[in-house]
Amino acid sequence: MAPIHKECDYLVIGGGSGGLASARRASGMYGAKAIAIENKRLGGTCVNVGCVPKKITWSAASIAETIKEAKAYGFSVDTTAPFDWPMFKKKRDAYIKRLNGIYEKNLKNDKVEYLHGTASFVDTHTVKVLLDDNTEVSIKAKKILVAVGGHPAPAPNIPGGKLGINSDGFFDLETQPKKVAIVGAGYIAVEFAGMFHALGTETHLFIRHDTFLRTFDPMVSEKVTAEYERQGVHLHKSSSQSKVEDLGDGRLRVHYTDSNGAGSVEVDTLLWAIGRTPELEKLNLGVTNVAQNAQGHIKTDDYQNTNVENIFALGDVCDRGYELTPVAIAAGRRLADRLFGGQADAHLDYNLIPSVVFSHPTVGSIGLTEPQARKQYGDENIKVYNSSFTAMYYSMMEAEEKGPTSYKVICAGKEEKVVGMHILGIASDEILQGFGVAIKMGATKADFDRCVAIHPTSAEEIVTMK
Ligand SMILES: Cc1cc2nc3c(=O)[nH]c(=O)nc-3n(C[C@H](O)[C@H](O)[C@H](O)COP(=O)(O)OP(=O)(O)OC[C@H]3O[C@@H](n4cnc5c(N)ncnc54)[C@H](O)[C@@H]3O)c2cc1C
Repeated sequence: MAPIHKECDYLVIGGGSGGLASARRASGMYGAKAIAIENKRLGGTCVNVGCVPKKITWSAASIAETIKEAKAYGFSVDTTAPFDWPMFKKKRDAYIKRLNGIYEKNLKNDKVEYLHGTASFVDTHTVKVLLDDNTEVSIKAKKILVAVGGHPAPAPNIPGGKLGINSDGFFDLETQPKKVAIVGAGYIAVEFAGMFHALGTETHLFIRHDTFLRTFDPMVSEKVTAEYERQGVHLHKSSSQSKVEDLGDGRLRVHYTDSNGAGSVEVDTLLWAIGRTPELEKLNLGVTNVAQNAQGHIKTDDYQNTNVENIFALGDVCDRGYELTPVAIAAGRRLADRLFGGQADAHLDYNLIPSVVFSHPTVGSIGLTEPQARKQYGDENIKVYNSSFTAMYYSMMEAEEKGPTSYKVICAGKEEKVVGMHILGIASDEILQGFGVAIKMGATKADFDRCVAIHPTSAEEIVTMK
């Protein structure tokens, strides 16, 4: 069949967070002729195998924790049956499917043409799209955005390594594993471990060092690691895996060494959460000479320009170091503002981007960690405020049932400008956003102090630190 030819102002490859936001703004707001291509499900990683189904599962896990804690408040809420994972998964899938439909409708409303197929470059202005029915569409575009995101890094090359699943596979689990091994120390591994444990799965978390979340402030890394141990997550420190055996009855035996020596554990599910890599395998990027860094991410400047004039990149595929949905969305909208809205300087400021870990308890983080701040400003120019306490929520509980709350505010210079804030404890995920606004506006410690506390909350400690 002869290929179909199309032309457009803006071709967006990848129907995820960044691509959809950019295409919709370019077309809906500025009238550019935009085409968006997606080869899996609209909404990308966030909607289908990331933030959204993860947060729903985290909410289920939080309810499980609350049910346990309710006893201390005088409730007798004995659960009469185990958590109904199959029913929960079915409902979660149905919600995601609804979102997929809403995303498609939004594209239509903004007059973005949507093609479901796989895109690959022919040259710097031409992209070939192989549609589901094997029709080939050749698109010539004035400007092309690469927003193809990433996927989980492959399983390590050990015997049986491929028997494990990755974060995508987590969302396909039809039944709740009784016992799970998770390998990884980043936020995805820590979130999954926390959710499994709270829902009653025996959880083994394998980390390479003594603590996890090591790119966060040391306070976060140390306290959340200790809290997971207190809660009863089986933490295997200084660990590595040598072999995975299929036991033939649906279980796997994972052989490892950890700080206690060699061992093995039999689990229903092994989950590798050992990083993510850009999804460039099918894009034939080589023909464009678009430059990539050593990890394969596309090199971009502050304006999402690549080294090729009409090709742009953003989101998880680019090298800006923030793999977060709102970052991809904001970068996508600003890029459309610049390319089609006449706003020559529009671009995302990558400074002071807040982020959250949906661990147990949650973590919020913005700006520099303490070691980074000390390095950047010098010890003598840094003042660090710390507060650790027991949230009032735990007042009705026994000592061994109380979770931690810790806050750190890092200030620089005589004016004590806040350059970093790191918080963990109940509701840290919700608390951070407002402080993010203040810090982005350049708040100082004195500004924090001037804000009257809201009592009784945990967050009031942040404006009363000494
Ligand atoms: C388990 C997990 C939890 C997460 N939790 C959070 C969270 O709580 N908060 C947060 O902010 N972020 C979270 N993230 C990160 C977030 O999902 C990503 O940062 C975000 O989705 C990146 O958006 P993107 O547009 O760059 O790429 P994506 O959303 O990945 O979209 C890229 C799309 O391009 C498509 N594609 C790839 N190649 C081609 C091709 N050749 N042709 C056509 N289509 C193609 C892909 O199918 C995909 O749909 C999480 C990620 C994971 C994995």
